[in-house]
Amino acid sequence: MDSQLQYTVLIVDDDPVTRLLMRQSLKAPNIVIVEAENGEQALTLFAVHLPDITLLDVSMPGMDGFTCCRRLRLLPKGKESAIVMVTVHDKLDDIHRAFEAGATDFITKPFKWPLFAHRIHYILKANNTLREFSQSQSRLAKAQSIAHLVYWEWDFKQPRIDCSSDMYALLGISENEPFLTFKKVLKHLHPDDKALFKQALRKAFYQKQPYDIEYRIHSANDKVIYLHERTEITKDYDGWKIIGTLQDITSLKQSEQEVAYYTYYDTLTDLPNRRLFIEQLETTLERAKHKHHSLTLIFIDLDHFKSINDTHGHQVGDELLRQAADRIKDCLRDADLIAISKGQDDQIARFAGDEFTVMLTDIDNVEVLAKIAQRIVAKFEKPFEIKQHNLLSTVSIGIAIFPEDGDSVESLMQHANVAMNHAKELGRNNYQFFSTEMNDYLFERLQTEQDLRNALSKNEFLLFYQPQVDVKTQKIIGFEALLRWLHPVRGLLGPLSFIDIAEKSGLILPIGQWVLQQACMQTRQWQQRFATDWRISINLSAIQFNQKLLIEQIRKSLDESGLAAHLLELEITETAMLKDVMETIPLLNALKALGINLAIDDFGTGYSSLSYLKNFPVDTLKIDKSFVDEIVESPKDAAISRTIVQLAENLGLRTIAEGVENSKQAKMLAEMGCKELQGYYFCRPLPAGEVERLLQKGNILPPREAN
Ligand code: C2E
Ligand code: MG
Ligand code: MG
Repeated sequence: MDSQLQYTVLIVDDDPVTRLLMRQSLKAPNIVIVEAENGEQALTLFAVHLPDITLLDVSMPGMDGFTCCRRLRLLPKGKESAIVMVTVHDKLDDIHRAFEAGATDFITKPFKWPLFAHRIHYILKANNTLREFSQSQSRLAKAQSIAHLVYWEWDFKQPRIDCSSDMYALLGISENEPFLTFKKVLKHLHPDDKALFKQALRKAFYQKQPYDIEYRIHSANDKVIYLHERTEITKDYDGWKIIGTLQDITSLKQSEQEVAYYTYYDTLTDLPNRRLFIEQLETTLERAKHKHHSLTLIFIDLDHFKSINDTHGHQVGDELLRQAADRIKDCLRDADLIAISKGQDDQIARFAGDEFTVMLTDIDNVEVLAKIAQRIVAKFEKPFEIKQHNLLSTVSIGIAIFPEDGDSVESLMQHANVAMNHAKELGRNNYQFFSTEMNDYLFERLQTEQDLRNALSKNEFLLFYQPQVDVKTQKIIGFEALLRWLHPVRGLLGPLSFIDIAEKSGLILPIGQWVLQQACMQTRQWQQRFATDWRISINLSAIQFNQKLLIEQIRKSLDESGLAAHLLELEITETAMLKDVMETIPLLNALKALGINLAIDDFGTGYSSLSYLKNFPVDTLKIDKSFVDEIVESPKDAAISRTIVQLAENLGLRTIAEGVENSKQAKMLAEMGCKELQGYYFCRPLPAGEVERLLQKGNILPPREAN
């Protein structure tokens, strides 16, 4: 017997001899014995002495042992004491009733005295352990509930997880479910956290790696609950086992989020504040450096905000800032911008007072940036309606771009700010880039667009013609018409310096129509004058190509000039053709129906695919100059050119190579089977007058090396 522990034994028996024998048998220094001769006395003594064990006779006069046992159990501490019922041997029914009444164990009369003491000591010890265990269990349960902690166990072999009912409640799973499985848990998980959870579980299962993760679940009333789960993996005789605790950390998270919100957001506009913006700018800049992307920083300052605030009060000022934030957000939300900006992390912030900032990632095109800035400026030209006031607050915008205008957060900010102040100096309500070249470039573009508007009426356009030559006979078989602009100040301009602007401004449509008419007229004139059936190739922009009027324009040009349809060839790039295939095929068919020829310009640089070559009614493939350039030196380019020629031959199409500059290139192309050539080697594009002079000498071009 454990000598340190003191035990109290209550003996309840109406027979004094039995009581005496029991007392003798149990006598020991650490045992206190109390005796009762009936049930009533037992109840009183129990309440006073709180015995560790009660030996209770079943049959006593008055209250019987079963009733007494039941009542003892209801007393304070009544559940923790061991109650051993003393029954008469062979009365099985009594044993059954004893357990029903709440007895811990039973012993039968007549006693085997030498065993009696051992038996009682054993029961005492077991009961003590049980009591300690239940005490620590209830303490643990209490601690767990205070910490919102739930405990579970899974032995890797069975589908079921062992856990207390708290876990069901925490996960929002009905307690009617017979048992808990990971599958059921997964169903309640937040979709974004499922992968994390599965991965952790997989590692635990296969690699015996414990995990410590946070995840979210949807509770029964559809609230999001944050849980922290820690696990341990153990191995015992039964095999591997994972033990886990789950803690509800929702309120912790919420306060964390609240703190983060106040630290990083502007509560007036709900936009990120200066601090968050700078942090994000730092990481975005690092990424841009790493990936060699561009990054644009835009500073937007409300003009005259201070005076509005002073005149109309803070409430009006606050509302103005809120609406200003919305306007800026609107400008950046436009679908075309989202399509252009590949980066997902375009950010707007309220930087300070009436200053907003925007960062845009990976927009390399200055014109797109200018368009965005322009859009914001325009949006602020409309007055704000606040509390019956019509308030005008325009913006001044400064733009700095990484890497051109700086490679650190500080320098970009400083430069965007300088640009913004520049915009203010220029009278507000406008935008400025930091770099002067950028501003100059945009200014020039704007100027070009303006000049271009008047160029047609001022007759500033002219066409150059470049001969196309038959490989075998060296005879001119036709010309490509190439547009030029004789600018009053800048002189003769090639199409590359203005076609883009003409396309963006829509001016290409009237210009294209002029080219068509002019080229058809000119060619017909030469045909008549020199009695030769030259062909004319005309370049078509993608924008003209999508236009319904095109067929009409071509028919008109043919009619008015008298040019035979089969001598007109339209050059269209692959990109233009594939822009909208559903519309392209009917349009190409309609063009073919006019009897004209169709060529794919710059072939090989676009999407070149066999399927559209088969489906599109084209006549000619024009091998792009970039392949011809390297055809002699690069076996790869030679192979591509050869393939194009063979492909065309198989499909029954013609090929013409452009940009031929020397005899070697011409010879190789001829050997490959390309039948027509065009390039400086034969002749540069010439104004009409010079072409005539050339033709007067005959139809054969003496080739010469380009220099
Ligand atoms: P493209 O249709 O591929 O025209 C061929 C370009 O290569 C022409 O440039 C021509 O001058 C140049 N070229 C020809 N042979 C050689 C050579 O041996 N060496 C070199 N280095 N260059 C050669 P250009 O005239 O500057 O025209 C550029 C582009 O502008 C044209 O490319 C065409 O896409 C477009 N374009 C020209 N005229 C018009 C037009 O009337 N309407 C439209 N929409 N686009 C036009
Ligand atoms: Mg062309
Ligand atoms: Mg070309």
